[in-house]
Amino acid sequence: MPITPSEQIWMNGRMVPWDEARIHVLTHTLHYGNGVFEGIRAYETSEGPAVFRLTPHIERLFRSAKIFMLDIPYSVDDLIGATKETVRVNGLPSCYIRPLVYLGYGEMGLNPLPCDVDVSIAVWPWGAYLGDEGIRNGVRMKISSWQRHDPNAMPPAAKGTGMYINSQMAKVEAVKSGYDEAILLSPQGYVSECTGENLFIVRDGVILTPPISAGALEGITQDAVMTIARDLGYQVRFDNILRSDLYVAEEAFLTGTAAEVVPIRSVDDRELGEPGPMTRAIQEVFFRAVRGEEDRYKEWNEVVA
Ligand code: PMP
Repeated sequence: MPITPSEQIWMNGRMVPWDEARIHVLTHTLHYGNGVFEGIRAYETSEGPAVFRLTPHIERLFRSAKIFMLDIPYSVDDLIGATKETVRVNGLPSCYIRPLVYLGYGEMGLNPLPCDVDVSIAVWPWGAYLGDEGIRNGVRMKISSWQRHDPNAMPPAAKGTGMYINSQMAKVEAVKSGYDEAILLSPQGYVSECTGENLFIVRDGVILTPPISAGALEGITQDAVMTIARDLGYQVRFDNILRSDLYVAEEAFLTGTAAEVVPIRSVDDRELGEPGPMTRAIQEVFFRAVRGEEDRYKEWNEVVA
């Protein structure tokens, strides 16, 4: 999806005009893929732009950094403030937000510890990642021939830049085969997640989502959707899922900050049909919640002004 430029990008504590937010070709992360990032959204609400669950996102950024031993030279509060400031100065009613922690220019070689740790925060307007049609009518999924990382090769709990090679391989395979998105299985053969989204299915009226031990990221939308589902009176739990569970699911959907809540229409050409009633009910509350229209979830709307 193309990027529409905004005005200013936060880089190491100062606002830099969009076109000047550049780095050197010898930037360490560009070579060895050791960096961590977040994907966050701000939505238009009656109180102005509000970042959806900003604090949990920034906290996850720090957990990712801790796993990779990247010492972020700012506090959680600093980066919460910097994110709000970046949304504010760009004057966008809603936007996608990309904080990035990366190893800068100055050192080369595989020991990252001497490198400077740099931080940037960029925002831009971004539509539905899997398309408006996907949100309405669902997407077609393919189980990838690529596996999710073994947790002892690459820790799936960290949202690390280089880890997304795995997602990109799966995405390319799925798109080239005519599907919208890929599902990855864990090295043990359980369903893990999608390339940039968590996955849910409904079996016997119960909503299931794979545990992090199956290689899934601890999704912030996943967590919101589990809360919404419980509040709607549904049973929901983490559980291991087999690929055949996907084929015979009563309903299925995926969740992520970029994708939001998207029904799954088919998996490996096994049709699941129109988006089901539980998926629709969850979608409806979710899209109201992000816009600050659900009083019980007000604390999820971290207002920028
Ligand atoms: N899994 C992966 C691999 C992701 O990249 C994302 C997006 N951050 C998710 C799941 C969904 O997480 P969240 O709901 O926090 O955006």
